[in-house]
Amino acid sequence: MLQLKDITKSYKTGDFTQVALNKVSLNFRESEFVAILGQSGSGKTTLLNVIGGLDQYDSGELIINGQSTKHFQDGEWDAYRNNSVGFIFQSYNLISHLSIVDNVEMGMTLSGVSTSEKNRKAIEVLEKVGLKDHIHKKPNQLSGGQMQRVAIARALANNPDIILADEPTGALDSETSEQIMELIKTIAEDKLVIMVTHNPELAEQYADRVIKFSDGSSVSDTNPLATQKATSNYTLKKTSMNFLTALKLSGKNIATKKWRTGLTAFASSIGIIGIALILSLSNGFDKQISTYETGAMSNFPITISQSAMSVDVSDHAAMGGTDLPMYPTEKTLIPYDPTENSIIHTNVLTTEYLDYLDKIDPELMDGISYTRTVNLNMLKSDGEIASTVNKGNVSFSTYPSKQEDTSGSYLEQYYDVLEGSFPTKETDLVLIVDQYNRMNNAALDALGINYNVDSINLADLVGYELKLIKNDDFYKKNGEQFTVNGTASNLMDMYNNDEAITLNIVGVIREQEDSKMSTLPAGIAYSDELATHFIEDAKTSEIVKAQQEADYNVLTGQILSDDIAGSGMAGMTQAGMPSMDPSMAAAMAAAMPTTSTKEAILASLGATEIPTSVSLYPLDFGTKESITTYLDEWNTDLAEEDQVLYTDLAAIVTSISGGIMDGITMVLVAFAAISLVVSLIMISIITYISVMERTKEIGVLRALGARKKDITRVFNAETFIIGVCSGVLGIGITYLLTIPVNAILFNLTELSNVAQLNPIHAITLGIISVVLTMLGGFIPAKMAAKKDPVTALRSE
Ligand code: ADP
Ligand code: MG
Repeated sequence: MLQLKDITKSYKTGDFTQVALNKVSLNFRESEFVAILGQSGSGKTTLLNVIGGLDQYDSGELIINGQSTKHFQDGEWDAYRNNSVGFIFQSYNLISHLSIVDNVEMGMTLSGVSTSEKNRKAIEVLEKVGLKDHIHKKPNQLSGGQMQRVAIARALANNPDIILADEPTGALDSETSEQIMELIKTIAEDKLVIMVTHNPELAEQYADRVIKFSDGSSVSDTNPLATQKATSNYTLKKTSMNFLTALKLSGKNIATKKWRTGLTAFASSIGIIGIALILSLSNGFDKQISTYETGAMSNFPITISQSAMSVDVSDHAAMGGTDLPMYPTEKTLIPYDPTENSIIHTNVLTTEYLDYLDKIDPELMDGISYTRTVNLNMLKSDGEIASTVNKGNVSFSTYPSKQEDTSGSYLEQYYDVLEGSFPTKETDLVLIVDQYNRMNNAALDALGINYNVDSINLADLVGYELKLIKNDDFYKKNGEQFTVNGTASNLMDMYNNDEAITLNIVGVIREQEDSKMSTLPAGIAYSDELATHFIEDAKTSEIVKAQQEADYNVLTGQILSDDIAGSGMAGMTQAGMPSMDPSMAAAMAAAMPTTSTKEAILASLGATEIPTSVSLYPLDFGTKESITTYLDEWNTDLAEEDQVLYTDLAAIVTSISGGIMDGITMVLVAFAAISLVVSLIMISIITYISVMERTKEIGVLRALGARKKDITRVFNAETFIIGVCSGVLGIGITYLLTIPVNAILFNLTELSNVAQLNPIHAITLGIISVVLTMLGGFIPAKMAAKKDPVTALRSE
């Protein structure tokens, strides 16, 4: 059945070659109890290892059931050990962290026997070796004899043809030895048992055949077999360990060192915690920023202004910018004219464009406001005498209104009424006070209110009346020039005239506390309808007609130059990145009607309905995008100079803040990633230690038929478990840490729930943790697989 032909095996250590087996030729019967006797070092163990396929012979031939093993591949040897051979060792070699049943089942597990079948067989063989009552114990709860019985059961479990026992009673007392020998003898009734022993009495007493070994060859044989019956129906069932078995095996191993595994997992989770916390903070800050954006910053309007803007084209070669290489190495300097790199763009607002703006879906906006430099002729009166309202000292602005709706939607959104109500009619005015409820002395003076007091009752201001006077009533021609029509007394007549339009201050309003940007300056605000109605009439007024023809200021007589330079400060402030509230700038420009160009004078007299700028107030960031898309559509087919460009201040602020956050996050994540590298190295060391500790187990598994791959799998499973633990631990701890972190941040900044771990980040980090730990354990796991099973079994 088993045939050895001239088997030679030698070991090389350095220059020295030790011949362990020297041309050994032996034939074995299908069932016999063979004892091998010989001095220590005579090659007995080597013979068993070669027969068992744990060690490879150098030359000769080993034939099993007529099948030569000469050309066996690794996988075939693995299957051979699993199917055909059962090992019994002197030191039992049980896997200590597995139960007795699991130990016995391992060989069957490797050859893919079903769970119920495995269990049935394991219990059957355990009964056979007399351990029926002990099957739920762990190996270390058994005596030496009992452990050897388990080992025998394990050797029998997969029903092999050959049982190889290397000094099975070497560690047992004589009484137990005899019991074990009895057991082995019964096994030999229907199997080939080859037992190495240095006890000649036991050999004489139990074995059918005694072979004496000396210096690597057999010197005597009590019952040799000359011819070998040729049988040839030998098939091997391939072995493999699935990942679940590997997990179970490593899980049980890890369970015996919970503290170490726990601490390792914790240590390697610190990197994960670091990154997860940083991500959750940046995630939270991003959310806070976008909440802030959609809240406060969405009331930043999109502004389309007539005034000149400089557009930097230095990065756009196509637009006339430079096509020079960046960071040149030449030691040369290139003179250039900076003005060539920026073009001054002037928006030309036309009535078509204004109509286009009017067609914006009102649902997208809180409102729309126009800045006009028209100077409304207003009179105030104390009941006795009337006087002109000196607009130069007061900030007059128009409040944003919805085109269709009743006005006030924007105001209602961002302003509180302190007294009175929001405006509802076009003749309604509102007073806007600043966050301290203050109002400029000059403004109060302009309205004829005594400002030499500590405070003024708001109720006294509501109901205050002004009169709006048409140009033709307000101005009278006086030779070549126009002057205000009359003295103090007939100003009162003008005030009381039916033609005069009564304006009422209907309320005092203030920006809401949480609206972080005020877009309307403190002062008096009126509706755009009022302005447009005034302009409608003013366009055809005498003074406007006269001014259109004159080359001098019809009010002052000052000669006008055609030069349009210095057309107001609105242009200057809007040229670069706006440094102040655009409406504020516009309002300041409006408050300076004395600008000297003819255009400006005409505009202040109400000659044109084209505003100097238009501000659109989007509802939120989503609708802002719809609006800007709509505005971009206008420019699609227009030449560069005919395009109408808008300013979106909020977008500038947002992109800056987002960029800073991204940068900080990246730096911090990079720092935290260093701790991941540290844990990678740590896992590598821990796995290496584990491989060292489990060397014996590796040998046992290999003896039972595990492939090299399966050994790698066992350690990969171990690092997988640690990786999962550290991932779960890291994410769990991070979730817990966000609670105190948020509490601290709330105390410091009053921002609530800043740290929020995104579940996608959590899952990703968990996966990263698993991948990294497995990466760390990969090399030690490969080393484990390469271990020679014989050396592994020898190790202590
Ligand atoms: P026995 O089991 O009869 O005591 P072994 O088969 O273990 O003897 O060893 C036979 C000879 O081979 C011994 O001289 C031993 O030192 C040598 N030997 C065994 N294994 C190795 C090895 N891995 N490397 C070098 N020499 C070895
Ligand atoms: Mg030996």
